[in-house]
Amino acid sequence: MSEKFQNYINGEWVDAVSGETFENRNPANWDEVVGIFPSSDERDVARAAAAAKEAKEKWAELTVTERAKILGKAGDIMVEKKEEISRLMTREMGKILKETMGDTQEGIDTAFYAYGEARRLYGITTPSELNDKITYTTVKPIGVAGLITPWNFPMAIPCWKSFPALLVGNSVVFKPASDTPATATMLVRIFEEAGMPRGVVNLVHGTGGKVGEAIIKHPDIGVISFTGSSAVGSRIAEVAGKSLKRVSLELGGKNPEIVMDDADLELALEGVLWGAFGTTGQRCTATSRLILHEPIYNKFIEMLRERTKQLRLGNGLDESTDVGPVINEAQMTKIMNYIEIGKNEGAKLILGGKRYVKGECRKGWFIEPTIFIDVNPQMRIAQEEIFGPVLSVLKAKDLDEAVKIANNVVYGLSSSIYTTNLRNAMKAVEKLEAGITYVNAPTIGAECHLPFGGVKNTGNGHREGGRWAYEIFSEIKTVYIDYSGKLQKAQIDVDTNK
Ligand code: NAD
Repeated sequence: MSEKFQNYINGEWVDAVSGETFENRNPANWDEVVGIFPSSDERDVARAAAAAKEAKEKWAELTVTERAKILGKAGDIMVEKKEEISRLMTREMGKILKETMGDTQEGIDTAFYAYGEARRLYGITTPSELNDKITYTTVKPIGVAGLITPWNFPMAIPCWKSFPALLVGNSVVFKPASDTPATATMLVRIFEEAGMPRGVVNLVHGTGGKVGEAIIKHPDIGVISFTGSSAVGSRIAEVAGKSLKRVSLELGGKNPEIVMDDADLELALEGVLWGAFGTTGQRCTATSRLILHEPIYNKFIEMLRERTKQLRLGNGLDESTDVGPVINEAQMTKIMNYIEIGKNEGAKLILGGKRYVKGECRKGWFIEPTIFIDVNPQMRIAQEEIFGPVLSVLKAKDLDEAVKIANNVVYGLSSSIYTTNLRNAMKAVEKLEAGITYVNAPTIGAECHLPFGGVKNTGNGHREGGRWAYEIFSEIKTVYIDYSGKLQKAQIDVDTNK
């Protein structure tokens, strides 16, 4: 019998109002049901939002260090359960255990960052333009935060959102991706075990169309923090814009790695293998374009083909596996379609391109690591986010052209350059249109205390990570205290032009 999971509303584990359920299966072995989950709708969201609204005042009245104590305890429990969480995550979304352990660790780091941040929720003080007057700012919660997350980082991303939201004093309605509801449930159970008061954290499982839409439209939810595709992000901005909700959007990418002829080619090769095929290419920061400097084009492609051939596909719980499955059948079909598009556009397929069905892999959604060369910057496989193990290789005659190609997409999340020439490195850092640039490192590898997010269609200007994430969930109050005992008039009593 598969384990049956529930929503978590007002401190209780409950079924969906409809009584309906959905199954969550292992993408490495579709016969294996990870769990049965409630298929919720707007009625469940209404209950969760009411509970969160009711709980938010008491939660905000606690001191920030009291809230931090509970969040720190949650971090301690995550440390104890790190392997259990990570194994479950591999079963439900496929990436290899080493990577799911890293995903969980990012959640733990975020928890302890939040614990420390309790003593650093700084405002500013600045001189007033008038005498005998003090001016400063303080941070207040917004109220109820709606958190909507994707499946590719099932622990890290919910932690990036929930810990800052909660530390500032918001209550939460959390909707995880329906491909990763079990890891999300683990996180909420951890909050419960850590002593979270009832109603402060609420979990509602289900589809984006029903649960997600109900969250973004709910009048009592004041801020939406969303990570996912640009198409859904744009829809959320449109709906939330009507009610003037604050919205933070972390969206797609088409991240380039540039390799110059002066680079350490072995290092650049390690970088692209990890960047393009780690998490089976299903990272928002995955290296999906490799831009090679002309003098090393042929040589590097040969090195890349040889090493990529050696990657082993399989179940992520098997220690010898390098690359796991893609998330589900629909995603597999989408990626296979892109491979056809690449062939039809005239790019040259030099490796992979097929579904992988050897041995046990026939039970899951595996795609061979795939490389297209001679890709033209205008081709769809060079422009659109594929979100799978497909790498497009392009040629550039110099750094200026490489940067031009890199910037020639609607996205701007991560980017990378391999070079031993300081001038090349600094020029790339300056010119690449991306929220993140790595030098001599792959396009992936974010650390939780630094800002994370992108430019152009990758988002709407917010950043997660570090202290920047706290801004999303905070209202700023500006305070003026006048102790002069008389009416003082700003801009009128003092004429700074004279
Ligand atoms: P998705 O946009 O399909 O879904 C993300 C979440 O939104 C899910 O929980 C889904 O159920 C929900 N959703 C779907 N339709 C909705 C609607 N109409 N209203 C409200 N919620 C809705 O994305 P995905 O397939 O889960 O994840 C892959 C995408 O996420 C990729 O584009 C990837 O680049 C992006 N991503 C971005 C970052 C980042 O930080 N920039 C990180 C990870 C993933």
